[in-house]
Amino acid sequence: MRFSKLFGKTLKEIPSEADTLSHQLILRAGMIQQVAAGVYSYLPLGWRVLRKIEQIIREEMDKAGGQELMLPALQPFEIWEESGRYPSFGKTLFTVFDRKEHKLALGPTHEEVITMLVRRHVQSYRDLPLLLYQIQNKFRDEPRPRGGLLRAREFIMKDLYSFHTNEADLDRSYQQMIQAYKNVYSRCSLPAVVVEADSGAIGGKESHEFMLIAETGEDGIIYCSNCDYAANVEKAKSVKPKLEAKNLQPVEEIATPNIKTIEEVANFVGVPTSHTLKAVFYSADAEPVFVIIRGDLDVNETKLKNLLKCSELRLATETEVKTTGLVAGSASPIGITGIKIIADDSITLGANFVAGANKPDTHLKNVNYPRDFKVDLTADIAIARPGDNCPKCNGKLLASNGIEVGHVFKLGTFLSEKLGAFFLNRNGTSQPIIMGCYGIGLGRLLAAAVEQNHDDKGIIWPAAIAPYHIYLCPLRLEDSKVAETTEKLYQDLIRENLEVLFDDRDESPGIKFNDADLLGIPLRLTLSPRTLQSQSVEVKWRKEKQAQLLPIEGITTRVKELLETARSEVV
Ligand SMILES: [Zn+2]
Repeated sequence: MRFSKLFGKTLKEIPSEADTLSHQLILRAGMIQQVAAGVYSYLPLGWRVLRKIEQIIREEMDKAGGQELMLPALQPFEIWEESGRYPSFGKTLFTVFDRKEHKLALGPTHEEVITMLVRRHVQSYRDLPLLLYQIQNKFRDEPRPRGGLLRAREFIMKDLYSFHTNEADLDRSYQQMIQAYKNVYSRCSLPAVVVEADSGAIGGKESHEFMLIAETGEDGIIYCSNCDYAANVEKAKSVKPKLEAKNLQPVEEIATPNIKTIEEVANFVGVPTSHTLKAVFYSADAEPVFVIIRGDLDVNETKLKNLLKCSELRLATETEVKTTGLVAGSASPIGITGIKIIADDSITLGANFVAGANKPDTHLKNVNYPRDFKVDLTADIAIARPGDNCPKCNGKLLASNGIEVGHVFKLGTFLSEKLGAFFLNRNGTSQPIIMGCYGIGLGRLLAAAVEQNHDDKGIIWPAAIAPYHIYLCPLRLEDSKVAETTEKLYQDLIRENLEVLFDDRDESPGIKFNDADLLGIPLRLTLSPRTLQSQSVEVKWRKEKQAQLLPIEGITTRVKELLETARSEVV
């Protein structure tokens, strides 16, 4: 490709709409262009990267036994009502009306459509297992599209769905798919970590995410320094520190003028926050919920939401708190009725807590569960913290940030039951098909790759997904020897099926080198009157600082070898 003919220009300035580093670099490199909030066009360079990622994914899915098909983006809205998943997607689901006023959804995911399809084609256990996948645009009306391709409203995704007769078979496919995903990331030279994850709106039993560790990642990860335990912070568990056993003391009322927060209460009484009980009020699908947790811990809203099985969870407003008869700043589980009380199990790990008295400027000492109050439900609803102990091995937990680049779910049978996808087993009995689903966002993977592979000059593409492999960079094209030699080398490289971006522009060395660095093409070949004087070409890897001079004689063969090694590099 001749740079002079390339559609899409590089930008010197940082575009104002770019809110993450990868977004800035991809825009500046002329790889994508925004059309509307969270909606992008891929320009030729960006599309080449995407196609390479797509091909690696396709090969790994095929190798794992997947069959590719294509489902429609337009889905009848009724199937979302039938599956019962409409409320959990809520406003994220794009809906449209056709000319007959018939409501349709733009697919945010395709479990419904594919289950309906499989329902028509699977009769008996002989038709299973099935692994079906597609690579297609998805639509989600994100409340806050951000990070360019990291959180877009229209995005390209590979989604595979698996259908099984029994749990063991699902387990097998699930493990195979985890391996296939690992292969995808390692072939893209992107080291991903597998973590336990929350199933979220997709639903289901078990779920794992694949994370690229990146400081800028918006997902928190908790992992063990000693064993392989790793989980999204939404899901992570930890061993909560247990306080020393004490004899239960009688409840005592104390005056706490103008003392409201847990820290203030603990300071005032002279105890650590772990000796207090914290009250938090939520509204779960408009129903008030009173949550009680040990003062040193915080509520994990994902765990709480899953426990309550609600679709909307938010902190209650001041008015809502007042309506329930509770006193903010001194709320207490003691003596309250008519409101659902959920407790974190940490309230059982200690004694003689300081808690609210449900009276202004008053707290209670020596509050003990279950002696002094009742709760409707006790469960782990706390945020696991770095420094806590590992739930698997008791080692120390650590934290980091990551970008989610893949998500796999064991769905089980809830969708096949809802949508009537059954099969006849060996005994001729009808059973619901057991399902799994597995997704990778391609654009997100592209952006995450940049987030992980760049320096202050630009992108550093791993060779396996680089838009081109060689940046052919002649300096002083007015020198006829440079012009002729480069042109010949360009033809030679193309004949060898090498992917070359030929910077044939009449620009200064500074501009050419800056663009080469910005675009991040792995290997730069520079020809100038100076290198030609010594019958050589300057060869420089984008990821390395030093360049080397190689003889121009046999350079095509040498470059081919270098690139083959780089492209087969896996991590
Ligand atoms: Zn551990």
